[in-house]
Amino acid sequence: MTSAEQVSCLIIGSGPAGYTAAIYASRAGLNPVLYQGIQPGGQLTITTEVENYPGYPDGIQGPDMMVHFEKQAARMGADIRYGLATAVDFTGPVHRVQIDEEKWIEAQSVIICTGASAKWLGLESEQRLNGHGVSACAVCDGFFFKGKEVAIVGAGDTAAEEALYLSKICSKVNMIVRRGEMRASKVMQDRVLKTSNIEVHWHSVTEEVLGEKVVTGVRIKNMESGQSTDLAVSAFFVAIGHQPNSDFFKPWIEMDEAGYILTTPGTSRTNITGVFAAGDVQDKTYRQAVTAAGSGCMAALDAERYLSAAGFH
Ligand code: NDP
Repeated sequence: MTSAEQVSCLIIGSGPAGYTAAIYASRAGLNPVLYQGIQPGGQLTITTEVENYPGYPDGIQGPDMMVHFEKQAARMGADIRYGLATAVDFTGPVHRVQIDEEKWIEAQSVIICTGASAKWLGLESEQRLNGHGVSACAVCDGFFFKGKEVAIVGAGDTAAEEALYLSKICSKVNMIVRRGEMRASKVMQDRVLKTSNIEVHWHSVTEEVLGEKVVTGVRIKNMESGQSTDLAVSAFFVAIGHQPNSDFFKPWIEMDEAGYILTTPGTSRTNITGVFAAGDVQDKTYRQAVTAAGSGCMAALDAERYLSAAGFH
C-alpha cells in the first residue's frame, strides 16, 4: 500500500465557497489542495447572467465568474485538481479523504464545500428520458429546443428564472405549478406573469413525461378539477429545488433532516474538530454566490486558527 499524501488544508468543492476558501487559505500560507468535484465551478456554471454579485456593475455570466474565481485561487497558489472526493474517514485526529475511489489524502484540516444538486420528481419516465428532453438545467439545454414548445415544473425563483430564459428561445413555455401560488420572489413572479408565451398551469402535478425515446409531451393533472391533460412539448425541465451534496459525510458529520451540514452558529465549524463546512452544503436559507463566498472565507480563517492553535501551522 502506498502512503497517503499529507496536506495541511484540503478543500472539497469548487463553487464560490471552495474557491474563496482556497484564496484565503493560500494567502495564509496553508498550501491548500482543492478538488473540484463532479461539476468544476459548481452551480454557477449552469446559470446565465449574475446581476447581484457585488463588484460586477454590468453583471457577468455565471461560468465566466467561476473562471475568475478559479484563476484568482490559482494565482494565490492553490493546488487545484480534477477529482471527486468519494469517501472520508474522520475517526482519527488526521482526516482521511479518498479521491476518485482510489487515492487517500491525509489532511490536518478539511473544508467541505460540496454544494447542492438539483432535485427530481422521481417519476420513472423522467429518469428514462433524462438527457432525451428531460433536463434540470434550462440554461444548459434550452438551446436544443429553440423555437419549440416546452414545459417546466416548479414555482421558486429558479423555475421562474428558467421559464423566463426559455421564453426567449422557445415558442411557448408551460409552467407547471402544484399550488395556486408561487414561491418565487414577487419581482420574478411579475415577470413570469407578464410574459405572453408563458402559460402557468396552477394546481397541477406532473403525472408522466410522455415519449418513447425522446420527450413528446407531458401529462399533467389539475388537482382541483381532477382532470388530466396532455401537453405536446419537446422538453421537460425540472426546477424544484436542490439537495445538499453531503451523503458520504453522513456517518461522521452532524446534519439536519434534509442533509444540510450543521455548523456552530457564527462559525464554519462542524462537530468534527478540524473539519469545516461552507457554502450551500450548510446553508439552506440564503444560498447565494456571495453568501457562499463569504462562508468560504470564514472556513479558511477558522481552519487557519485551528491549525495554528493545534500547533500544525
Ligand atoms: P425553492 O425551494 O425555493 O422552490 C422549489 C419549488 O419547487 C417550489 O415552488 C416548490 O413548490 C416546487 N416543488 C418542490 N417539489 C415539487 C414537486 N415534487 N412537484 C412540483 N413542484 C415541486 O427552490 P429554488 O431552486 O427555486 O430556489 C432556491 C433558493 O435560491 C431560493 O432561496 C431562491 O430564492 C434562491 N434563488 C435566487 C435567485 C435569484 O435571486 N436570482 C435565482 C434562483 C434561486 P411549493 O412552493 O409548492 O413548495
